[in-house]
Amino acid sequence: MTPDTPITQDVLTIPRKLPEAGRQNLVGLTRQEMRDALIAAGTPEKQAKMRVGQIWQWIYQKGVRSFEPMTNLAKDYRATLSEHFVIEIPEVVSRQVSDDGTRKYLVRIAGGHEVETVYIPETDRGTLCISSQVGCTLTCSFCHTGTQKLVRNLTAAEIIGQVMLARDDLGEWPEPGRAPKNEQRLVSNIVLMGMGEPLYNFEAVRNAMKIAMDNEGISLSRRRITLSTSGVVPEIARTAEEIGCLLAVSFHATTDAVRDKLVPINKRWNIAELLEALRAYPKLSNSERITFEYVMLKGVNDSDEDARRLIRLISGIPAKINLIPFNEWPGSPYERSDWKRIRAFADIIYKAGYASPIRTPRGEDIMAACGQLKSATERARKSRREIAAEAGL
Ligand code: SAH
Ligand code: SF4
Repeated sequence: MTPDTPITQDVLTIPRKLPEAGRQNLVGLTRQEMRDALIAAGTPEKQAKMRVGQIWQWIYQKGVRSFEPMTNLAKDYRATLSEHFVIEIPEVVSRQVSDDGTRKYLVRIAGGHEVETVYIPETDRGTLCISSQVGCTLTCSFCHTGTQKLVRNLTAAEIIGQVMLARDDLGEWPEPGRAPKNEQRLVSNIVLMGMGEPLYNFEAVRNAMKIAMDNEGISLSRRRITLSTSGVVPEIARTAEEIGCLLAVSFHATTDAVRDKLVPINKRWNIAELLEALRAYPKLSNSERITFEYVMLKGVNDSDEDARRLIRLISGIPAKINLIPFNEWPGSPYERSDWKRIRAFADIIYKAGYASPIRTPRGEDIMAACGQLKSATERARKSRREIAAEAGL
């Protein structure tokens, strides 16, 4: 890509699919959309709100996938619902479990495309890393997903469906008729850090996260959801206002010259513009710190001078700096910084008063670590030469 090539939002949004003889999927609909759909299928308007509440609980609290078990609805009504609707989530094609317990799901969505979802169990939490697009329009030079051209945006159903399929696999739905388990949740946190740029699929991501946060369903606090963006500046305020989750930003460099190469969206919105949007975020979203993600690339962005510049840049922003040791992938044009270098970098940041955790690579043996995701089936991939040329190497 040349510096003046505009980064376009070349995104195909497929219409909400009408599976199996035109039956509409209820998964992924907002409450309002579900209400409209139920009314269109003959539900009396006066009852519609209550029916949405009941069906919502069955789908998102109890995890049912058909209408027969919805015993608080009349039999005839359940039959009508089955004629018009389905409750459908994407299919898990394969599941790999890493030595460290990380699980990677290969998920097939409509059209035969595939995305990956990763579950990372830790002692105090279980984090699900979900994808928002098949591929990515952006071409960050250190990211495996960036070598795969964008195929399409995921729908809200496909996004929230990733949470549901992980709960299926982990057995995290209460038995019908039993009270929800009280023990610690298995999926306690969601990070939008899988494949794709979530802010280039804003509406579907927002609607899916609203479903995840809805108290009558999956009921995750907005503070347990983190959206990671490469820096789509115009959508950052909207994220605060319409989603209100925590924000992470793929920062990765401390000068525009280097960031232009690593995160090419920087040519559209540079570091100064990005920081301005980030400064406003905590207040707008009434949330705490912003996570600055910083991938450690040997000899590229890992000097003491970079660490000091980073501190100067983010001064005044409540922040945590998450250092990510670079995860290699076949053909990747960078190397991971040495551990000694990463620790020295972390130390400078820590001494300036910021938390600077080093992200332990998880699931590397199954290519589930940050930036390693890429669906093997997509053929529209770039060559090593193209990646190097785009990175200006
Ligand atoms: N598109 C979004 C979210 C997905 S990427 C974004 O860019 O923020 C999730 C995180 O993994 C980002 O911080 C990304 O920069 C980082 N990442 C990508 N490739 C990586 C790699 N090979 N090694 C380590 N981190 C990587
Ligand atoms: Fe896309 Fe994020 Fe990868 Fe950049 S780091 S190519 S924005 S998925």
